[in-house]
Amino acid sequence: MKILIIDDSSTMRRIIKNTLQRIGYSDFVEAADGSEGLAALEGVELIITDWNMPNMDGLTMVKTIRRHPSYKTLPIIMLTTEAGREDIIEAIKHGVNNYIVKPFTPEVLKQKIDQTLQQKQE
Ligand SMILES: [Mg+2]
Repeated sequence: MKILIIDDSSTMRRIIKNTLQRIGYSDFVEAADGSEGLAALEGVELIITDWNMPNMDGLTMVKTIRRHPSYKTLPIIMLTTEAGREDIIEAIKHGVNNYIVKPFTPEVLKQKIDQTLQQKQE
């Protein structure tokens, strides 16, 4: 399964990638902001994205993706330090499927991915 990892921090992208490898995933694409993310959607089956990024932030990117008919159901997990209840509600409202607050553990990442992919099948 091809996973698109979007975060402006290359360290964070490496941490996410390493964690994904630990829980059994091996096919990744990376992007450093929302507009790079939009350009890398081809063949992607799951997106894990940061919220705060330069050029285009994660929420703006999600809104753009959801307007596109081909990507209406593409699973998106937001991984961010924006932990406020209102932020979470706003993100979900705009089409984010699941939410992880940094810092995260491999267990939480796995659980959220399983949950998100299961939702898609229902
Ligand atoms: Mg960031």
